[in-house]
Amino acid sequence: MPMKVAIAGAGVAGPAVAFWLAKQGHECTVIERFPSLRAAGLQVDLRNEAIEAVRRMGLLPTVRERSVPEMGTIIVDSKGHENIVQRKFDPECESGVQGKTSSYEIMRRDLIQILYDATKDNVTYRFGLSIDHYRNIEGSEDGDKTDKVEVTLSDGSREIYDLLIAADGQGSRIRKQMFFYSPEEDQSRWLGIFSAYYTLPRRDYDTSFCRMYHATERRLAMTRWHKEDMGQVYLMAMNNAERFRRALDRDIASQKDAFAAVFKGMGWQEERIMHALTDAEDFYADEMLQRRSTVWSRGRVVLLGDSAYCASPIAGVGSSMALIGAYVLAGELAIHGEKNVCEALTSYDTIMRPLVDQSQRLPKRSLQGWFPLSTWSIKRLHVKEWVKSKGKGAQPWTKELNGHRWILPDYPEMCWRSKSSAWASLPSTARSSLTDDSRAQSFWSPGAYSAASSVTDDIWLPSHALQEEENTGRTVAEWPLATPLTFSKCSNCVRRVDILPPQKE
Ligand SMILES: Cc1cc2nc3c(=O)[nH]c(=O)nc-3n(C[C@H](O)[C@H](O)[C@H](O)COP(=O)(O)OP(=O)(O)OC[C@H]3O[C@@H](n4cnc5c(N)ncnc54)[C@H](O)[C@@H]3O)c2cc1C
Repeated sequence: MPMKVAIAGAGVAGPAVAFWLAKQGHECTVIERFPSLRAAGLQVDLRNEAIEAVRRMGLLPTVRERSVPEMGTIIVDSKGHENIVQRKFDPECESGVQGKTSSYEIMRRDLIQILYDATKDNVTYRFGLSIDHYRNIEGSEDGDKTDKVEVTLSDGSREIYDLLIAADGQGSRIRKQMFFYSPEEDQSRWLGIFSAYYTLPRRDYDTSFCRMYHATERRLAMTRWHKEDMGQVYLMAMNNAERFRRALDRDIASQKDAFAAVFKGMGWQEERIMHALTDAEDFYADEMLQRRSTVWSRGRVVLLGDSAYCASPIAGVGSSMALIGAYVLAGELAIHGEKNVCEALTSYDTIMRPLVDQSQRLPKRSLQGWFPLSTWSIKRLHVKEWVKSKGKGAQPWTKELNGHRWILPDYPEMCWRSKSSAWASLPSTARSSLTDDSRAQSFWSPGAYSAASSVTDDIWLPSHALQEEENTGRTVAEWPLATPLTFSKCSNCVRRVDILPPQKE
């Protein structure tokens, strides 16, 4: 039976989970507080398994088309010397760990537009409305009635759903309510790093590299270029906490004043960056926060994306974790079915937890290492970065878990791939070997929720087949005869997270 699912937030996590749940035939309503799609935000990266999640959505070519052509990261010194170049590399063709510039850099507004376009026909979007409260309603003990959740919307109305997914970002109201009576379970931490973001006009000499500049007194400035005539400034400081916190409680002008005062005398392109700060109409500032908690769900309410496990912008994995989390949550719901939602939510927690812990591992000492205090410590950091630039980049988080690699689980129940032409193109021997029984075993999608799709129309393709299809531009229908063997093999695929031994590179 399809479930009625309310999703708070049309950022990255909300539309992504709606994509997968709608494919399973669930009735999804995304409720967004903002009056329209929230186009604000600068560049976000897609890393590691998130690229795979997007590939399984069939959206990787679109993301690639719209991605920012950043060629890598250059670390500059106060005179603007560009001695350290960390180039971008393609993880699909080259081995190693992605550098500061991911192979999929995209403007946040483009990513959420792609997700919205992919879901708008099958998902109900309601803008200008927020979910303010929820109440779990327990079903009757004899099992006649299942558990539900009642949500109270900002217009005062109340609605009943089978599941509420809180994809409402790091300031999530639903999260606040979840931990209101058990604050000890909320282990979020402020990182004491203050950041500001805004755009600035591009000049002829601004090549398509991210430029990173470390100033003394734990200050960092970055420029990135996403358009021919426009770029972005990122300012980050790990000092003057009281001053910044006071300013953040006040208006934008006060926040700009605080950043201008703290970054005065920073060197490099100071004049230009400060000039743009004064003019910026899209200035945004905040203190970096990590969201952590012992649980991510209560009854029929579950946290997803930044509301559950925001790793902070400095980790650069927020959108990736949102996409991975959406896929895993939907996959677990597909496996467990609407009668075992609680088990699905527990399983989502178990599977995601090691990856989240890894992505949030930012010990204070290493944070201070990224924000050096003195000229000497900047030089020391630059030596380290120079050594890395001779290898394959930095930022290993989300890749290695204590020497093991976290890989995206397979959920054949929901990895649909159209169309009947593919079925027709299979040789008859292959078709007859795919009996109803073998479909029911999993790699065909029989599913309790097959309302939106039919088993004869859709097939599941393993990821490497999707990847090859993208690379060759060949459609499923043109797939060679060997494909049925691949299908058969994949019917036995492992659904749980496999912790693989580290790969030899
Ligand atoms: C305006 C904005 C700009 C950002 N800019 C950047 C950036 O430049 N670089 C970067 O790396 N990351 C940025 N992020 C964060 C990044 O989008 C997230 O880390 C990541 O994509 C995880 O996404 P999410 O869907 O969990 O949360 P978010 O992307 O934060 O989306 C949450 C959504 O929920 C909505 N919402 C909040 N409360 C409610 C409620 N009660 N009811 C209904 N809807 C609600 C919000 O309006 C928002 O649209 C930005 C986030 C926002 C909201």
